[in-house]
Amino acid sequence: MNSAPISAPVTHNFLPEQYARTNQLHPNHNYLRAQFSDYPEIFRKLERLVIEGDFTLGRAVDEFEERIRGITGSKYCVGVGSGTDALFLSLKAAGVGPGDEVITTPYTFFATVGSIVTAGARPVFADIREDFNIDPERIEAAITPRTKAIMPVHWSGLPCEMDAIMDLAGRHGLFVVEDACHALKAEYRGRPAGSFGLTGCFSLHPLKNLNVWGDGGFLVTDSEEMHRQLVLLRNHGLLNRNECAVFAYNSRLDSLQAIVANHLLDKIDHITERRIANSLRLDELLADLPEVRLPVRPEAVRQVHHLYCLRVDRRDDLQRFLVESGIDAKIHYPIPMHLQPAAREFGYRAGDFPAAEQAAAEELSLPVHEFVADHELEQMAGLVRKFYRA
Ligand SMILES: *Cc1c(COP(=O)(O)O)cnc(C)c1O
Repeated sequence: MNSAPISAPVTHNFLPEQYARTNQLHPNHNYLRAQFSDYPEIFRKLERLVIEGDFTLGRAVDEFEERIRGITGSKYCVGVGSGTDALFLSLKAAGVGPGDEVITTPYTFFATVGSIVTAGARPVFADIREDFNIDPERIEAAITPRTKAIMPVHWSGLPCEMDAIMDLAGRHGLFVVEDACHALKAEYRGRPAGSFGLTGCFSLHPLKNLNVWGDGGFLVTDSEEMHRQLVLLRNHGLLNRNECAVFAYNSRLDSLQAIVANHLLDKIDHITERRIANSLRLDELLADLPEVRLPVRPEAVRQVHHLYCLRVDRRDDLQRFLVESGIDAKIHYPIPMHLQPAAREFGYRAGDFPAAEQAAAEELSLPVHEFVADHELEQMAGLVRKFYRA
């Protein structure tokens, strides 16, 4: 049996307290006040929305989808309610359901696995490599006659080994749904993350690299058939006002959120470049510490650093020290998916995915978003050095 402790039941919305606890830390992983400091400009755009009133699937959504097609080079983009819905609806549109297996990584955010389980399929895990991403060789070993799809996650904005993954998907007749929620503008051998699979799925959650004022997401695809299915599934299966082709869901990208996303899209190159530059600077500042393993930097990829993930000795003590020193050092995440209380029904145990378990015990994230200044990078690195010398 897996040994995950079960906490007390949730009886209230715990997010306001969680934010209140960490928001005084600086630098913080939450930088939204700075990012939207030009909100009066956005308000003016929203004023037009209120006057025109096209709140659901309005023109701003079309414009956003068009701009994303330009970024990923995909034929189609479909704005949806969240990154989770992008994953879930991709599986549904591709016909995944009960009795099917989807192979993914045990080292991810809950939504990856949630989308598989809520689609009715069984999540089958394949362990990760040093770079935190799923190991293509282990995917191959996990394939069974029930396997329908592979869902790789480009963790922290580092693209997975897509040549190997697409090759084995092709050989075994599987399709690939990319969880690219960390990976907008990331590239693998010059090609955008999210553009390899049957679909590539992205999140616009407030703490993702391109973010909005609430929830939002989108997916890209080159498949005309998937596009046709997905525009139905996100909007009640409607062919037009009076005819429904299939009873379905309501998962639309709000026009309001599309307006915010379009506003930020003007800055996405700056956002991405600052994250990369800040990450490389931290690499430099921490390079000589034997207690710290820097992010793996494979050739021929563009790693966009939604997160900056170190592996460190005495992780929990270092995190405590940094937080006590005012730094928002975080763990993404301390419990891998197969050891979650939710995973009990799938019968995994501690020891099943040792690389993911080791990552969960060693990982530490430092903020590298576009508002972290050079002196703050030096301050964070200085504190890490101080901790290990003490
Ligand atoms: C954030 C995230 C999601 C889900 O995105 P939401 O928009 O919050 O639903 C899925 N997968 C990964 C890896 C994520 O980090």
